[in-house]
Amino acid sequence: MIVCKTISDLREQRNTWQQQNKTVGLVPTMGNLHAGHLSLIHTLKPYCDKIIVSIYVNPLQFAPNEDFASYPRTLADDLASLSQLPVDAVFTPDDAQLYPNGKVDIVNVRVPELGSQLCGVTRPHFFHGVATVVTKLFNIVQPNYAVFGEKDYQQLLIIRALVRDLNLPVEVISSPIIREDDGLAMSSRNRYLVDEYRHKAVQLQQTLQSCKQKILSGMDDFSQLEQQACAELAENGFIPDYVAVRTQQDLQIPKENKQQLIVLSAATIGSTRLIDNLKVN
Ligand code: AMP
Repeated sequence: MIVCKTISDLREQRNTWQQQNKTVGLVPTMGNLHAGHLSLIHTLKPYCDKIIVSIYVNPLQFAPNEDFASYPRTLADDLASLSQLPVDAVFTPDDAQLYPNGKVDIVNVRVPELGSQLCGVTRPHFFHGVATVVTKLFNIVQPNYAVFGEKDYQQLLIIRALVRDLNLPVEVISSPIIREDDGLAMSSRNRYLVDEYRHKAVQLQQTLQSCKQKILSGMDDFSQLEQQACAELAENGFIPDYVAVRTQQDLQIPKENKQQLIVLSAATIGSTRLIDNLKVN
């Protein structure tokens, strides 16, 4: 496993693999790797000869009041975990590599309406930052495949739209949510949770499960369901951002309960904002 800190080192390695006709897959991450991240590598492996994991905490997707400065950075541990897996290269650029002309007055990628709803309401900068850095990573690495977790379901659909609308020659693979034993979706931000909130955090998943059961038993007043779910979260100590029932395919408000649906939520417990979702098939 090689570690490339610069774009030129990464491209040199990529060119060598290109000459050898190797297919290359990319796993974009912000590091502080947990089993959820590592599962992406296993999902991607059957598609490609070579796997590149990128680790970069992208300043463009954090608002000034968010946790960019305190976001956990654990590069040595991350490299130790990745060295046990079928990973061929790790790309660890710094800001000078990715944003040599600063971060303000640069060309960036605006995402469509899909990015203004759900998490885009309270984090309007977020998906533009994600779409911009993913476009840059795709151009630098030129992967044949890239994998994204369903944990960030709205992000996954935005990346699919990005690839489609900008004709990027990358196939996007999705990978299921990996959870802790009690059902909490794994996340780098879970480490912010003190014991009291860590115990309560499991309620987010339980609320989604109860929404799923109600939909399966025929409930189709989704806005009432969403309100009840937000109330349930609030009773359990969360500040709910949203609970939303949407179509799996394009996150539209569903017209009937027979479509393939997904229940998504974002909610804050203590000072930690968690997201999760559950498909209803
Ligand atoms: P992040 O480092 O948070 O930007 O996440 C990098 C990638 O890992 C994204 O594609 C996430 O959707 C994915 N990911 C994060 N947590 C999980 C999880 N619990 N299960 C599956 N994928 C995940």
